[in-house]
Amino acid sequence: MSIEIIIPIICAAVAAAITLLAAWRWQGDRYLCDTCRFNDPESCLKVERPQAIICKAYRSVDEQH
Ligand code: SF4
Repeated sequence: MSIEIIIPIICAAVAAAITLLAAWRWQGDRYLCDTCRFNDPESCLKVERPQAIICKAYRSVDEQH
């Protein structure tokens, strides 16, 4: 088997392993919106809501200000 075949197979195996690890560590609370004080249709009009992963407007429900 040539190196041109082995390397993509190794890369695919590593990617699959990383995906399985991420799925195994899933805690069911990965979206920022789940813990954001603006997570309601009146306070947030972003299309990413309620599944934002990155958001500059994020404010924790626990923040005082
Ligand atoms: S401000 Fe960002 S994190 Fe908060 S609810 Fe809206 S989209 Fe989600």
